[in-house]
Amino acid sequence: MAEQTKIPYKIYLEENEMPTAWYNVRADMQKKPAPLLHPGTHEPMKAEELAAVFCEELVKQELDNDNRLIPIPDEIRDFYRMYRPSPLVRAYCLEEKLQTPAKIYYKFEGNNTSGSHKLNSAIAQAYYAKKQGLKGVTTETGAGQWGTALAMACSYFGLDCKVFMVKVSYEQKPFRREVMRTYGASVTPSPSMTTAVGRKILEEHPGTTGSLGCAISEAVEAAASEPGYRYVLGSVLNQVLLHQSVIGMETKAALDKYGIKADMIIGCAGGGSNLGGLISPFMGEKLRGEADYRIVAVEPMSCPSFTRGVYAYDFADTGRVCPLAKMYTLGCDFIPAPNHAGGLRYHGMSPILSELYDEGLMEAISIPQTRVFEAAEEFARVEGILPAPESAHAICAAIDEAKKCKETGEEKTIVFGLTGTGYFDMVAYEKFHDGKMEDYCPTDEELASFRTHLPKI
Ligand SMILES: *Cc1c(COP(=O)(O)O)cnc(C)c1O
Repeated sequence: MAEQTKIPYKIYLEENEMPTAWYNVRADMQKKPAPLLHPGTHEPMKAEELAAVFCEELVKQELDNDNRLIPIPDEIRDFYRMYRPSPLVRAYCLEEKLQTPAKIYYKFEGNNTSGSHKLNSAIAQAYYAKKQGLKGVTTETGAGQWGTALAMACSYFGLDCKVFMVKVSYEQKPFRREVMRTYGASVTPSPSMTTAVGRKILEEHPGTTGSLGCAISEAVEAAASEPGYRYVLGSVLNQVLLHQSVIGMETKAALDKYGIKADMIIGCAGGGSNLGGLISPFMGEKLRGEADYRIVAVEPMSCPSFTRGVYAYDFADTGRVCPLAKMYTLGCDFIPAPNHAGGLRYHGMSPILSELYDEGLMEAISIPQTRVFEAAEEFARVEGILPAPESAHAICAAIDEAKKCKETGEEKTIVFGLTGTGYFDMVAYEKFHDGKMEDYCPTDEELASFRTHLPKI
């Protein structure tokens, strides 16, 4: 190929090419994702009920199955401009290393202090809370990426931010905690004595190191019991996928700018927000019959919601206080094996992606964690970026596909989401380097035992 037609190493959009609206893929879905149900009555949650916990504008977005484009307020676009558009990078060095005819691109979302794509939704949620005149928001965080993103967003709009951080992470990840405090958030190890549910859990299980489900229950209680506060969540919800569509719209605009057609789109899947955002406009074309893509979700073998879960209504949290969501789920009590280091540990999956997967519009695979870290290292050594373990699931799948192309000679174009950087995950990398990382694959019996509580709907 002539040198002058070579695609740039990094495709950056101009500032004025940044999306002015989020794309709501639900508008193009013939079968809509199932509604959230009230945990007591099993009736669909009404806007007024949701508004007790979530900001009003976000409730509207949560329930909006019809409007295709939702304008991004200028104040949010101003913030996006600090770190967006994010680059779409052609992985020339990785292609060279693999000797593959495939063309590999990755959309890099790690170029901000929080180090992941979560900031795209954090800033939107903080903006609507501020606009509603609230004092602050509460949330939970496990590893800390979401808490950090939310702390940054809240400090920008002058909102109070209370983060309940799973106790074991609070103690083992002091640096994440201090980044959050730098941005003015208060960080409480969960379970704590500051909420009734926290006190109850501590009484029943003294010395517990906490869980995500327990931190959610505390954050929801803290929001409900203090006037001027609402609860916010960093993944799974429809509104979060909506905000994250900025990733996919930029990716599509960058590809279109150079006349590139993707064949395959790959993303890691925890609660589904980055993947849902990345694939949205492409899935839209697929749903409207305008184009076809292979779309692949990649999850850890130790937390396989798509590949081994069931599609059913389940609780979103261990405390079972949140609404029921119909999703691919492992059961709300499921916690991955203690040696699991790669993130993506939520028991359920976005209801939007669950419906698309159930209709066969996308695929899913699971990968053991030592292979994920091998891929992370291979990628870091040639492409420079130190990937988050979560992101490395997508890297691993992309490398596998590129190797297949080498065998078949196919010049496929593969696009994957590189959701963030791994600077705070060095304990996991250390385990991998020392040969102390183990793979874990839950047995069918174990998985079945977590499903016994599923509500009958
Ligand atoms: C939170 C996170 C994920 C997984 O969350 P999704 O909602 O599935 O996107 C992936 N990568 C990084 C870097 C994260 O912080």
